[in-house]
Amino acid sequence: MEKVIIIGSGPAGHTAAIYAARANMEPLMFEGFMAWGIAAGGQLTTTTVIENFPGFPTGIDGTQLMMNMRKQAINAGTRIQTETVDSVDLSVKPFKVVVGNQTHETQTIIIATGAIAQRMWIPGEEKYRQKWISACAVCDGALPMFREKTLIVIGGGDSAIEEANHLTHFASKVIMLVRRDVFRASKAMQDRALNNPKIEVRRNTEAVEAIWENLLTGLIVKNNKTGESETISCAGLFYAIGHTPNTAFLEKQIDLDAMGYIQTVPGSTATNVPGVFAAGDVQDKTYRQAITSAGTGCMAALEAEKYLNTL
Ligand code: FAD
Ligand code: NAP
Repeated sequence: MEKVIIIGSGPAGHTAAIYAARANMEPLMFEGFMAWGIAAGGQLTTTTVIENFPGFPTGIDGTQLMMNMRKQAINAGTRIQTETVDSVDLSVKPFKVVVGNQTHETQTIIIATGAIAQRMWIPGEEKYRQKWISACAVCDGALPMFREKTLIVIGGGDSAIEEANHLTHFASKVIMLVRRDVFRASKAMQDRALNNPKIEVRRNTEAVEAIWENLLTGLIVKNNKTGESETISCAGLFYAIGHTPNTAFLEKQIDLDAMGYIQTVPGSTATNVPGVFAAGDVQDKTYRQAITSAGTGCMAALEAEKYLNTL
């Protein structure tokens, strides 16, 4: 029987693994095998340079950062299996973790399966998405190619407004495309967008196609009320149309919010099932950063250790 099984291998999972291994909990990690279409190592393996993770003054490649974390987790004593967890049974103690035709028993579980940013897959996106189309303004907004340029944000929720506001620090202008005539965002956030002179809001407007001339030069948009199309010149496109947390495999055995994020006790990684902890983007719809994921991974390991001491 395992003391702790860690499911997921992004910054949250590996940080939890490093702390758990150093606390002699002998963690077993299932890092996933293209789980939800993402390689082991998580979302950072889908991007290029990471400039905001402390400790790397000139930035570090996302995949390299995750390989470093993996190596550190192994050096500390973590056993890693490159498999995706199919299901768990949290109704029994010890808990059961099912991977293919194997069932593992464990006293505690740390869920760190992350979330996937939704995308629209407009024509050209698959080829260019890593460079000119982003789903994270905080991550990519400061890149030189976006400075003093017109950028487009798609979405009308709180995230879209946060992203648009953030981008105004670098862009000459930010155009928000909202597909309905109303925002989904809170009134306070709406005011923030509407009062920002660098932000222009276009309602009832949807993206149709990106225009490429070696780099992104524009976006064809359509007004869904009038049917009129036009091309907006822009240097970058940022999606803020929601995220999907990777929680389907839990089959609602722990409390999730309306959007499927795992609910944790505020200020902690504890779920409503004693002995099950959640860290990283799978329980965080606000910050969704590598460093906050790593921070909650640390918390989950410390909390799992404390829980084990009570058994
Ligand atoms: P994730 O990184 O999402 O990793 C979860 C892992 O668990 C994945 O590999 C997944 O396949 C695996 N998994 C899922 N289900 C299972 C299962 N059932 N069994 C086993 N494994 C499973 N943040 C920054 O701070 N700076 C940046 O510059 C930055 N750039 C980004 C660029 C892009 C393109 C994206 C998409 C995100 C970026 N982020 C950035 C956000 C950052 O990547 C996330 O906040 C962070 O990776 C979340 O870490 P996590 O550990 O919660 O999960
Ligand atoms: P969200 O609230 O689900 O909003 C998603 C937005 O994207 C909506 O405007 C939606 O339009 C739009 N959208 C979805 N699919 C689209 C598509 N295919 N094409 C065009 N537009 C599309 O998601 P979120 O903004 O990421 O927020 C998630 C949660 O985090 C919310 O509870 C939010 O309050 C919270 N949050 C809070 C803060 C804050 O308080 N500072 C910051 C960020 C997030 P429709 O409205 O038409 O569906």
